[in-house]
Amino acid sequence: MSTAILSALPEEQAGLVHALQHPQRITRAGRSFWRGELHGRSVVLALSGIGKVAAATTATALIEHFGVARIVFTGVAGGLGDAVRVGDVVVAQTYLQHDMDASPLFPRWELPGYARSLLECDANLSALLLIAARDCVSSDSGQSGSSSVPRSAHKGLIASGDRFVSSAHESLSLRDALRAAGHEVLAVEMEGAAVAQVCRDYDIPFAAARTISDRADDTAHVDFPQFIQTVASRYAEHIVGKLLQSL
Ligand code: SAH
Repeated sequence: MSTAILSALPEEQAGLVHALQHPQRITRAGRSFWRGELHGRSVVLALSGIGKVAAATTATALIEHFGVARIVFTGVAGGLGDAVRVGDVVVAQTYLQHDMDASPLFPRWELPGYARSLLECDANLSALLLIAARDCVSSDSGQSGSSSVPRSAHKGLIASGDRFVSSAHESLSLRDALRAAGHEVLAVEMEGAAVAQVCRDYDIPFAAARTISDRADDTAHVDFPQFIQTVASRYAEHIVGKLLQSL
């Protein structure tokens, strides 16, 4: 059975498609899926699109139509944790939907019907992904542009929601509200928690690694496009390559 490699944006996916052996393009649900082999492993590459609903549709198609054994997300995110800098990688341990709020019927962030706010990623797959992420940041440190500072790989909570978080005010209030509820959030993006929820529904292992493209602050709209042009695809290719060799 195949491993699905999900990216949000074509810029994040480009290197993976380029490296794919025996590529076969399939269109489904208005999306392109690429079947093939990477490092001798059977994979399906897919774009989630942007936002939770688009990501849930792609994840469902990967499971229902392509019968994938596991889903791995590689993409970019805004850094929220104090120690999480541009160029670092965050591997998700848990996910939360920061724009889910059915209060006062349910506590803020709780997913109605699931009796929880946090969605766990698969522990084994995430441990392998963290090893791959560490390998990527250590071999990349000192190579590209701003990186005289060593880069780090982190593991923890990532929040997803249908917003590009692009002001210091919003990112701090999100981080502080989550902290007050006992959740130390490392990064924010727009798709992962939706995929985590679909994978939970189908009982499929899920793991995600997000490279930090911006700090979700007042310069996020400038930092983000620069980063995805220069670094995102290379990081995705390195991390996925290492991971596949360890499966
Ligand atoms: N410019 C893109 C839109 C990108 S939206 C386009 O025109 O197609 C931002 C993407 O990067 C999403 O997939 C999201 O998951 C991730 N992301 C990076 N930084 C983010 C931030 N600060 N807030 C939310 N999502 C972010």
